[in-house]
Amino acid sequence: MVSELPWDSKTGTLRRDLAEGMMNPACANALEAAFQIKRRYGGDIITITMGPPMAEEVLYEATAMGADRGVLLTDPYMAGGDTFVTSHTLARAIEKECPDFDLVLCGCHTSDSETAQVGPQLAEELDIPGVAYVEQLEINNRTVRMQRLSDNFFETLEMDLPGLVTVTTQANAPRYPSLSVLETAFGKPDISILGAADLGLEPETIGVQGSPTKILDVYSSTAKKKNLIMKGTAKKIVDEVFEKFGDRISGAIKKDLKTHYHEKKP
Ligand SMILES: Cc1cc2nc3c(=O)[nH]c(=O)nc-3n(C[C@H](O)[C@H](O)[C@H](O)COP(=O)(O)OP(=O)(O)OC[C@H]3O[C@@H](n4cnc5c(N)ncnc54)[C@H](O)[C@@H]3O)c2cc1C
Repeated sequence: MVSELPWDSKTGTLRRDLAEGMMNPACANALEAAFQIKRRYGGDIITITMGPPMAEEVLYEATAMGADRGVLLTDPYMAGGDTFVTSHTLARAIEKECPDFDLVLCGCHTSDSETAQVGPQLAEELDIPGVAYVEQLEINNRTVRMQRLSDNFFETLEMDLPGLVTVTTQANAPRYPSLSVLETAFGKPDISILGAADLGLEPETIGVQGSPTKILDVYSSTAKKKNLIMKGTAKKIVDEVFEKFGDRISGAIKKDLKTHYHEKKP
């Protein structure tokens, strides 16, 4: 639950260094989609994550699952970034580490703030086409044909490479790394660590400093139940209901019920 996330109310940021680290479920689906593409069309898989030093763990896991190498973007200046600067930082890392990329695969959303904004923003930053919520994809030469569920029908879309897709958690069943592979992955991981200076990023353009979005507070709303017993004639109860809740009902349905009701009253 969001309220269980270690929150720093002074800086309005999530203490990710205190949070339990795990691979974001939708990112595991994006990775699985990458493995299926590699099995059919070849290519290298590079995994990139921006986070505190302990985020390196998911890159080990990704390597154990079959990724070729990992890049950790970590720097105190990067902490607390909103989606705008997160995608800005990721874009600079992609341009530096794999400038000739063909396809960027992201999860459709994270399991903590779930804004689903980073994928589309990253496509903007890289000035490439992007398609979100992809369930299936096929590559034919330099074109990707995709299917995604939109409301209650499937859309089929095509996009020229290089491009970006965000993958849903229904798209596939991510593989689990075997213990032996995990051992090797932890034994000789090909993981590079980059900071803001390595990406040529000024502190004021990233992290909390560079974020146009400020999160004022995080809390989980708890439904409070209260019984109210009203006695009397139907007319008296309706009058009382309007007295007590008229404003809230009006606000909810954007119609001034109270005046309307009193005008109608015999
Ligand atoms: C409760 C809460 C609410 C928030 N609300 C907002 C908000 O309204 N607006 C805002 O700008 N920020 C918000 N943030 C900050 C937001 O968490 C960060 O900006 C975060 O890094 C990216 O946003 P997201 O988790 O929603 O990513 P999403 O857009 O949901 O992520 C989609 C995909 O982008 C990729 N991705 C996302 N983050 C990273 C990363 N650090 N490294 C590598 N890949 C990544 C992954 O593939 C992921 O599956 C909020 C944070 C919290 C905890």
